[in-house]
Amino acid sequence: MQAFNYHRPGSLMEACRLLAQYGPAARVMAGGTDLVVALREENRRLAGVSEIIDLGYLGGMNYIREEGDTISIGALTTHTDIAASPLLQKYAPLLAMAAAQVGSPQIRNRGTMGGNLANASPAADTVPAFIALEARVNLVSSQGERQVPVQDLLAGPYRTTLAAGEIITAITFKKLPPSAGSAFLKLGRRKALSIARLNIAVVIDRDAAGRVTAARIVPGAALPVASRVPPAEALLLGNMVSPELARQAGEMVGQEMVRLSGVRWSTEYKLPVIAVLTRRAILQAAGVREDE
Ligand SMILES: Cc1cc2nc3c(=O)[nH]c(=O)nc-3n(C[C@H](O)[C@H](O)[C@H](O)COP(=O)(O)OP(=O)(O)OC[C@H]3O[C@@H](n4cnc5c(N)ncnc54)[C@H](O)[C@@H]3O)c2cc1C
Repeated sequence: MQAFNYHRPGSLMEACRLLAQYGPAARVMAGGTDLVVALREENRRLAGVSEIIDLGYLGGMNYIREEGDTISIGALTTHTDIAASPLLQKYAPLLAMAAAQVGSPQIRNRGTMGGNLANASPAADTVPAFIALEARVNLVSSQGERQVPVQDLLAGPYRTTLAAGEIITAITFKKLPPSAGSAFLKLGRRKALSIARLNIAVVIDRDAAGRVTAARIVPGAALPVASRVPPAEALLLGNMVSPELARQAGEMVGQEMVRLSGVRWSTEYKLPVIAVLTRRAILQAAGVREDE
C-alpha cells in the first residue's frame, strides 16, 4: 500500500488550505471506495501523492434539498441516501435508479456523489444521470467558488477539469416537470457488485399531444466521456415515441459510439447491446410498451 499522511480538517476552509499547502501531493477523500482501492494498488494515477485529506467528518455536506424548482445535493451524500430519497424518486427518478445500482449496499453506504463525479470513471453510474438532468457542480477552493455544468467537469477517462485545490461541495439541477419521464438502465457482468459494462440515462419531455419536446440521451461506458448523443435526440424531437422510433434512436447511439470510440474488441457485443438498452430506456421514459 502506498504510504501517506492522514489529515482530518475541521472545516471546508481548512481542507482548502491543506490542499493549497500540499498542492499535487494532496488528494481529498470522501467515502474512500475508489481512493483507498487505488492507494492499496499503488495506482500510478496517485504517483507522488503523500497527503490524504479526509472530508468524511465535515458537517453540512450531506443533504438533499428542495429550493423552489431546484434540487441541491451535498457532495458527501451517499448513494444509499440518494437512492432512498422520496424527493429524488419524485423529481429525478433516473438519479435514484442510478444510485441504487452502484456496487453493493456497503459501497452505497460509503460511496458519495462527489466521489463518483470526481473519480470520473467512464463507467460511473450517476454521471450519465446528472448529465441528463443538466446538473451543475459547485466548486470551492482557497481562490473562491465557481459553478460548472457536469459535462464540463469531465476531461477524459479518470480526468476532470477540477483546478488544483478545488473541492466539489454540491450539485444542483432543476426538478423534472410532471410531463417528463426518465429512465436509467445498466448492464453489468452480473447483477450485484458490478461496474457498468454499459449504462444509459434518458430524459424525455412531451407536449399534451404526446410529441417529444425535449430529449436527453446519455450513454455511459460507451464513449470516452459520458455525454449526450444529439443525433439520436434529434430523431425523437417533434415526434411521438414508438418502438420503431426508439429502435432507430438506439441504432444511432450505437453508430455514434463506434464513430467516437472506434472499433474495439468489445464493439461486437457493445454495439447491439447499447442499441437495445437505449431503445428500452426511451420506451420506459416515455411510458410506451414494447408491443405498442
Ligand atoms: C467493489 C466496488 C464496486 C463499485 N461499484 C460501482 C458501481 O457499480 N458504479 C459506480 O459508479 N461506481 C462504483 N464503484 C466506485 C465508487 O464506489 C464510486 O465511484 C463512489 O461514488 C466513490 O465515492 P467515494 O466517496 O468513495 O470517493 P473517494 O474514493 O473518497 O474519492 C474518489 C476520488 O474523488 C475525489 N473526491 C472525492 N470527493 C471529492 C470532492 N468532494 N471534491 C473533489 N474531489 C473529490 C478523490 O480525491 C478521489 O480522487 C465501486 C467501487 C468498488 C470498490
